[in-house]
Amino acid sequence: MDEVTLPSGERQWRPSPGGLVTALHPVLTEHRGTWIGWAGGDGPAHEPFELEGINIHPVPLSADELERYYEGQSNATIWPLYHDAVETPVYKRRWRDSYRAVNQRFAEAAADVAAEGATVWVQDYQLQLVPAMLREMRPDLRIGFFLHIPFPPIELFMQMPFRAEILRGLLGADLVGFQQRLAAQNFVRLARHLLGLRYEGQSIQVDGRKVKAGAFPISIDTKEMERLAADPSVQARAKQIRAELGDPKTVILGVDRLDYTKGIELRLKAFRELLADGKLNVGDAVMVQVATPSRERVEHYQTLRVKVEREVGRINGEFGKVGTPAVHYLHQSVSKQELAAMYAAADVMMVTPLRDGMNLVAKEYIACRGDTGGALILSEFAGAATELRQSFLCNPHDPDGVKDALLRAISAEPAELKRRMRVMQRHLRTHDVARWARTFLDELGVDDTEKPQDD
Ligand code: ADP
Repeated sequence: MDEVTLPSGERQWRPSPGGLVTALHPVLTEHRGTWIGWAGGDGPAHEPFELEGINIHPVPLSADELERYYEGQSNATIWPLYHDAVETPVYKRRWRDSYRAVNQRFAEAAADVAAEGATVWVQDYQLQLVPAMLREMRPDLRIGFFLHIPFPPIELFMQMPFRAEILRGLLGADLVGFQQRLAAQNFVRLARHLLGLRYEGQSIQVDGRKVKAGAFPISIDTKEMERLAADPSVQARAKQIRAELGDPKTVILGVDRLDYTKGIELRLKAFRELLADGKLNVGDAVMVQVATPSRERVEHYQTLRVKVEREVGRINGEFGKVGTPAVHYLHQSVSKQELAAMYAAADVMMVTPLRDGMNLVAKEYIACRGDTGGALILSEFAGAATELRQSFLCNPHDPDGVKDALLRAISAEPAELKRRMRVMQRHLRTHDVARWARTFLDELGVDDTEKPQDD
């Protein structure tokens, strides 16, 4: 949750953008859980409160922790390392100390809030030490952990200076969930390699306890997304967007946080080369790239913004005409309705990360298409590629492959596109976020009548 100031000067809470919040909101409402989380910003602690049926228990971060724990250890060390080190991870001792201190604070908050024998579900890479810290204080709890981002192979993980501490932190959980089967395998093998622990299948023996690992691919609230996209006002807005773009034959869309893992530059480059090759024409094809501002004080992200904006400028400079730019670039957050209208307006959606835990944008696009077809170009390195096999899969490291996938998507027969879309839509209707949560909680041994405490 973020606290925002309205134009009137009033302060208000609103869910922050991002896959995690999108995924957990319906789960928390359904289970009436408590969300223990950072309130955003570096202000003092707020009192717990209720919002949209969820108990919110804010945990404060100081300005110093924001820099060291959040921007440093979480987003300049762990994030790049876990994403195949596509940017070089930065290691700093004072960031690690801050990470420990903040993880301890979260563990203490959960220990205070959780009822006897309750379930605590710890989310994501910023809190990997929490499971062990919490178990130490509250052995009565059932503890689950889910990693939303990839878990790297042993060779990469071994770079991490406090690697054994992180691993022991995770092993404090009863169940450690990943997006992919391969990630779960990386984890159990690492436990043997680094700590000499024995495992059988996906179950690791730790201090006489069993810690299970498994794959639980996250998803979207499919029904809600379909409903939103079918709304007449969203459909009307989709038409309006196409008209404002000059009613081109092909609208190509990218929607991402402005993050170097998302492959935004390579997507722009593929588009530029196709214009230069004469395989695409400005006016016939137009690209819209929405890049949500993200982690703006981290250096990797500042560099990326310069590179992306330079490429957009270059394409428009070389190929645009007055009143007809080749690329429309928005460095801003947009509402869910506007996003759904953009998905509905786009003939081709480009999702080309170099590495991504899942990628919910790909799933949202499919849910918004109704029976209108549309083509999804999807990187093999996105977790979503395991499920969305009827997309146009590509290797983002191979520019010719990306260009080829884009051309194939643009020239595919409408009937074929509809057929592909229908298969993926059917999959998402059964594999939605509620199923993700239910499957994880079932495996953790929580029955439906219990109410988990979320972290
Ligand atoms: P990540 O979690 O790495 O940001 P995902 O694709 O899994 O990537 O999730 C991104 C989420 O953020 C999606 O639910 C998407 O709808 C939302 N989102 C992305 N860009 C924007 C934007 N410009 N405005 C509002 N929401 C956005």
